[in-house]
Amino acid sequence: MTERAPVLGKQTGQTISWHAPEVERSNACCVYCGVSLRGPDAPLSDKEHLIARNFVPTGTMGGQPFNFIFRACRQCNARKADAERHVSSVTLFNSPARLVDDRVNDIALRKGRGDYHPSKKGVLIQEAHENLSLDYSLGPLSVKFGMVAPPQLDKNKAGEVAFSHVQGLFTLICTEDYRDPLKMRLLPQEQFIWYDWYAFDDWGNPQALEIANRVNDWECLANIVSAEGYFKATLRRSDEGWFWALEWNRQLRLVGGISSSSMKVFEKLPDEGWVLTPSGRMRQHVPHRIESDQLFAGVVSR
Ligand SMILES: [Zn+2]
Repeated sequence: MTERAPVLGKQTGQTISWHAPEVERSNACCVYCGVSLRGPDAPLSDKEHLIARNFVPTGTMGGQPFNFIFRACRQCNARKADAERHVSSVTLFNSPARLVDDRVNDIALRKGRGDYHPSKKGVLIQEAHENLSLDYSLGPLSVKFGMVAPPQLDKNKAGEVAFSHVQGLFTLICTEDYRDPLKMRLLPQEQFIWYDWYAFDDWGNPQALEIANRVNDWECLANIVSAEGYFKATLRRSDEGWFWALEWNRQLRLVGGISSSSMKVFEKLPDEGWVLTPSGRMRQHVPHRIESDQLFAGVVSR
């Protein structure tokens, strides 16, 4: 039996599309939930962009950089869009790119005053700062800290977007023929592992560096820089399973794996230096050094 090359879809620049106006000529199943999009019982489906154009700063998706377009059922499409709107607002609002790019700053301000925080009723993103105060006695010393932390990202919504992005890339890489439901390969939730996330001022976190080091010789299946660097993704594979990393709006990195069992790459990692405080724990963030930044340095070999 000869091995068939994957059916890639329609390609414009680096954008790959599995979407056609007719359902029958599009991908057979919803990439996110796996429901069949054909036949009399199929749910309504829409065109879906893996990287939503509004997720990254306006204008950065011009010139057809990498994106993946396909059909998703309306329910998944709406759920992802809602999570993506929040993640985009918070990551852009907290992005260091605001300091060097007026265009990004304008968009961040607009999103900050136009979007409500999901876990703070009636509070806009721009007002969703966490006011932290810390009181404790240290021997004869009484110490009081006052801090203002930036708007916090909702963890469930970040997880939703990360899972969707990884699902899309996994399906794109593994699917032999997107028009044939038996030749589409989808990523089930139970195999998706999200290890941790790091804000830009903590990209030199000892655990993040060690993980990047451990996967450095794994086969690189995708290394994507799109939207002028406001979206990055990488996928690697070894006998242990898959590794994935995402970077959003130059502000947040997320790392995890794909496996049906626990992965050694996330075990026995170096100490992050947490210290206990009366109300919990804290640690110092570690900015990354360019020379040791190898998370998105993979080269796809085939
Ligand atoms: Zn769906």
